[in-house]
Amino acid sequence: MNLQERIQKSNGPFIISGPCSAETPDQVAAVCQDIASRGNTHALRAGIWKPRTRPDSFEGVGSIGLSWLVDAGKACGLPVTTEVANAYHVEAALKAGVDFLWIGARTTVNPFAVQEIADALKGTKIPVLIKNPVNPDLELWIGAFERIEKAGITDIAAIHRGFSFYKHPKYRNAPSWEIPLALRERRPDIPLICDPSHIAGKRDLLQEICQKAMDLNYDGLMIETHPDPLKAWSDAAQQVTPNGLDNLLNSLVYRSSNSDKSSAQQLQKLRDDIELLDDRIYELLASRMKLSEKVGEFKRDHNMTIFQQEHWAKVISKRMTKSEEYDLTERFIRQTMDAIHQESIRHQTKVMNPNLPESGKD
Ligand code: PEP
Ligand code: MN
Repeated sequence: MNLQERIQKSNGPFIISGPCSAETPDQVAAVCQDIASRGNTHALRAGIWKPRTRPDSFEGVGSIGLSWLVDAGKACGLPVTTEVANAYHVEAALKAGVDFLWIGARTTVNPFAVQEIADALKGTKIPVLIKNPVNPDLELWIGAFERIEKAGITDIAAIHRGFSFYKHPKYRNAPSWEIPLALRERRPDIPLICDPSHIAGKRDLLQEICQKAMDLNYDGLMIETHPDPLKAWSDAAQQVTPNGLDNLLNSLVYRSSNSDKSSAQQLQKLRDDIELLDDRIYELLASRMKLSEKVGEFKRDHNMTIFQQEHWAKVISKRMTKSEEYDLTERFIRQTMDAIHQESIRHQTKVMNPNLPESGKD
């Protein structure tokens, strides 16, 4: 059963839905049947072994739930997937006939665990989905794909479920969209699926995340769906009913990444205009750095340090007050100003200490 082919052939995003956890045979059968009858899902999910943050939470029903899931999938004609975190899980899931496996965020983070899973997969052809590690480390995510590929599994896909964050102002896990986009740049061959449920942590935030994923041309969505979310044994706040899933998917705008000739030309015109602005931005930055060098010469001649905290605080706060006027976030202004400042210090250091080897160029 080829996963990448299914993702490619799905009309629109490839949808994986189903409960966070398998709870009872009836719950699994009923929710899978309900989801499947609506015709918008391509694969069913349910967690059998649950990695919970704190002990004494519900940690999954264990191997007994595998046949509930496999039987439910067979009954409604959809492939099924579950999370595996060690060799025992892999063996039990393979034996039960699970169609695809996924590696969870708390496992991807640990190369020993990923290698154990890879070793258990040798000689099989089961497709594997790999969630991002809980920490924002692209290399670790890529490393997990490589371990699984070295075990002979090439039918793989990525799931972006966000990154652990202490007190994120909005989400359960920070989306940090730049990381999955960097993964796509490095590994364009790997389909990318968004899991808005674990990013959001709350059902009302699912829609905006799904829409963003669609606008970024993701290949699919994994959305936790439960017959009675408020009574779910895990992740109650973020699950939706099958009807809620339907409404959510219908509310999204699906845009195409291909375009006809005339819209391609219009887009090219806008891109050309942006390129002209980029030229100007960098010419201005280059002029700014020439001024920084003059400042560096002045400080050198007057024996002053390069960095002067009070002045820099004023420069930043002045820019921040213009955040609304520019319609740019304070975070963006801070990041760009910090980058400009680093480069300015490099230019000043060069004129102040012409004989020192240059640093900060990497
Ligand atoms: C899950 O999908 O239910 C799960 C535990 O996910 P994650 O690994 O993203 O926390
Ligand atoms: Mn969950």
